[in-house]
Amino acid sequence: MFIGIDDTDSERGLCTTYLAAVLMDRLQPLGEIVGRPRLIRLNPCARFKTRGNAALAFHIESNRADEVKDTALKTLLQLSDFSGANTNPGLVIADEVTDEMAAFYRRAVTEILEIDEARGLLDEEGVWYRGFKKGRGLIGALAAVGADLPDFTYELIAYRERQRWGRPRRIDRASVWRADALTYPRTWDSVDHHNDRIVFAPHSADPVLFGIRGSDIPAIEEAFQCIESEPVERSVLFQTNQGTDAHILEGPIGQVRDSQSYRLRGTVTEPARPIAGGHLFFPLEKSSERINCAAFEPTKNFRSTIRELAPGDELEVFGSVRDGTLNLEKINILHLSERKSLAAPPCPLCGKRMESAGRGQGYRCRRCKTRATGPVSQSTPCRLEPGYYEVPPCARRHLSKPLVRMDGERVHPSR
Ligand code: ATP
Repeated sequence: MFIGIDDTDSERGLCTTYLAAVLMDRLQPLGEIVGRPRLIRLNPCARFKTRGNAALAFHIESNRADEVKDTALKTLLQLSDFSGANTNPGLVIADEVTDEMAAFYRRAVTEILEIDEARGLLDEEGVWYRGFKKGRGLIGALAAVGADLPDFTYELIAYRERQRWGRPRRIDRASVWRADALTYPRTWDSVDHHNDRIVFAPHSADPVLFGIRGSDIPAIEEAFQCIESEPVERSVLFQTNQGTDAHILEGPIGQVRDSQSYRLRGTVTEPARPIAGGHLFFPLEKSSERINCAAFEPTKNFRSTIRELAPGDELEVFGSVRDGTLNLEKINILHLSERKSLAAPPCPLCGKRMESAGRGQGYRCRRCKTRATGPVSQSTPCRLEPGYYEVPPCARRHLSKPLVRMDGERVHPSR
């Protein structure tokens, strides 16, 4: 049986991953969990997400199907925050994962879907499901069950004791830096070096104490052992599509649609323009099609890379499109144009640089008594190199593939 769950939490608390963790425990006597449970991130532009648009699925072998359904339903009813205005739980229990369900997942991670599309497919496939309130969670629950993961990473989530929920988290900061030093690059995004921050623990009232992301299970466990914190009530190692760019579509600039995420190729036509609040924008063009790219203030030090871009630079940009603007997650500099600046011309006799002869009066060489009317253009060095640059861990989208995972490419990880 493939069990999918989504949309059980609200801004005030709880967490669908926690519900799945509790449910797996309760199902132990009824069967055997096969493989790892899955933490599936869906389209990051979905409107009704609480935080990171996560849905959960796991596989259980059991010959007590009715009891499994009953336990799943009771747990969902008990551990969902029904009072949340935007909490619309969905529970899906399928006997098999069909190609149509896998296709539904791929759409859910890249497009915006309607609840009726989920209900329609569930009915067509004869799958058992329950949707509560608006039943929007059926979209995520079905997508999580259908998720095929050609690429995947892991996240170990540690949960808090219930009496501590809503109180400040007690985690020894130094131990987190130590865990990172011991296990990076096999784990990533626990800390943000540039911004001197610990980024693996939420600040919300939910049951999550922290999450360790990585590609290598022993390294994740080593990091977990290293962290000193308040007691961990339980922990679960999820297999996940986080850090895989599963949301990214290929597209020519002219065909991008809002609420979808792309890799686009083009040429920078103007230097980045800042607006109030520290946000930066620049236009990217290809074949007379143009898109505005944005590096918002929360992307912090990534903006210093964007500030260095110049007209003529050829890039690939990665990010989600909102209101016609692509919100950058990373860029790949394919070619840097020659940087030029204006400078005083050299004296034709002695070769030394001339000096200004006064406002609007050109340049002169005092010694040789030569004059020139205007400045000359000269090449200047560029601080950037070709290759990939990314937003720092504190601004990372769950689905974005971090550069630490890109083998054989020219990368400049934010670290
Ligand atoms: P958390 O990260 O705390 O679990 P969340 O950000 O995952 O919260 P949810 O409470 O799960 O947010 O709400 C997201 C809602 O959006 C769910 O009902 C889910 O079914 C729905 N959804 C997910 N993907 C899409 C999509 N591609 N199109 C439309 N709706 C979607």
